Amino acid sequence: MRRVIYDVIVVGAGPAGSTAARECAARGLKTLIVDKAAFPRDKPCGGGLMVRTAREMNLDITPVVERTISTARMVRRSGRVDSVTSDVPLCLMTQRLRLDAFLVERAQEAGASLREKTAIRGIEQGIDLAEIASDSEPLSARVVIGADGANGTTARMAGMRPDMMQAVALEANIRPAGGVPPDWETAGGVYSIGCPGGYGWIFPKGDHLNVGVAGWAHVAPTLRRRLHELTATYGFAPSSLQTTRGHHIPFRRAGSPLVSGRIMLVGDAGGLADPLTGDGIYSAVVSGRAASVSAFEFLAGETPDLCGYQRSMESGLAASVQVAMQVHDLVHLGMDQFFWSVARVPVLWRACRAIARGDVTYRSAKEKLGPYGPVIDLGANLVRVVPWLQRRTGRTEKIPPERFWQDRNGSSGARPRPTRLGRDGSGRRR
Ligand SMILES: Cc1cc2nc3c(=O)[nH]c(=O)nc-3n(C[C@H](O)[C@H](O)[C@H](O)COP(=O)(O)OP(=O)(O)OC[C@H]3O[C@@H](n4cnc5c(N)ncnc54)[C@H](O)[C@@H]3O)c2cc1C
Repeated sequence: MRRVIYDVIVVGAGPAGSTAARECAARGLKTLIVDKAAFPRDKPCGGGLMVRTAREMNLDITPVVERTISTARMVRRSGRVDSVTSDVPLCLMTQRLRLDAFLVERAQEAGASLREKTAIRGIEQGIDLAEIASDSEPLSARVVIGADGANGTTARMAGMRPDMMQAVALEANIRPAGGVPPDWETAGGVYSIGCPGGYGWIFPKGDHLNVGVAGWAHVAPTLRRRLHELTATYGFAPSSLQTTRGHHIPFRRAGSPLVSGRIMLVGDAGGLADPLTGDGIYSAVVSGRAASVSAFEFLAGETPDLCGYQRSMESGLAASVQVAMQVHDLVHLGMDQFFWSVARVPVLWRACRAIARGDVTYRSAKEKLGPYGPVIDLGANLVRVVPWLQRRTGRTEKIPPERFWQDRNGSSGARPRPTRLGRDGSGRRR
């Protein structure tokens, strides 16, 4: 039997993979998505989509939106609540079980083929093709998009060495007897949990509440206790938590590779999530779309290689994610004070709302600050060099201030050494 050669094989059918596949197929590329799971499949996730994500999807996702959030309730460690309400939606609540299946169907509608229950086991790059070993027969493609998520292996199989920091998040559902309490029908909550670099959330879904906590990898052993404590503050018994699940969220360091030969990494596989909010679906969609453009241009002979994808990420999404990391560090110096300020300083609230809605990115918001923008650099660099400030952000590894080793495009000049996870799961260098 003759082997089918695909223009593009997408490994993983989460939001990054299905978006990349949909856009590749829509551009007329012969596209196959391969996923080890069968759809619909669930993924540990809060399922909150900021409006910027829905806008970037370029697709009507109304059928899988269970609630629309216009109020952000920010709860300080003391239990005091700072609340802000927008006259336009801020966030859309979905369940990954439904959202991901919906996005895969849209990719198929656009012409992509789907192979489920098939794990990718190895990748060999040749001169014209990438050869992929899978659970079923061998596959061949001119371009491979690695969209296999936080635990993905495409990068390693392709000989790439991504340089990531690891966060972890734990989530569960509560099904109140009377359904979602009226207080939470259009409000999402974010909680200061007294854990350096960490936070908690409560998201209302159609018939239940999704609750969770997140932090850097070294706090993983404490997350279950923190989730129980938080659940009690909502007025529910920890025993009411259902399907408690945890997962990594990787965050790339500047310069971490996104392209190797015929292979591009998108979404969590590339470590592109937003470190301030833990929102990874937006980055998954943005990077999936960008990868499809680079695949098309390369296959059409318009570009000699796929490096345009790395460049477009470094100057766009990844540069914005780095500003988000700076803001993360500053916010975590005083999360309670940040909540207080968002509710009382109109320009700060307007900036948060504009970022959530995709009117600006972190980077363009910082640029709009004009001469005050470097104050963010200064503050973030201070956090990096003053150990007790750094501890407040939950960061444990020694990292040089960004400006000392970054070039103007946001990519690194001298690459920092890759970090290995310590025995305690921390990102400390050894
Ligand atoms: C607890 C928690 C809560 C979160 N809450 C939010 C939130 O509210 N909003 C938000 O925007 N983000 C949230 N995130 C982040 C978000 O879940 C991820 O950033 C997002 O899922 C990344 O999408 P992806 O397509 O890159 O990867 P994934 O969604 O992880 O998809 C990867 C796919 O690849 C497949 N795969 C893996 N390996 C292979 C292989 N070898 N062969 C074939 N297939 C393979 C998997 O089966 C999977 O379907 C949360 C994360 C966690 C852990």
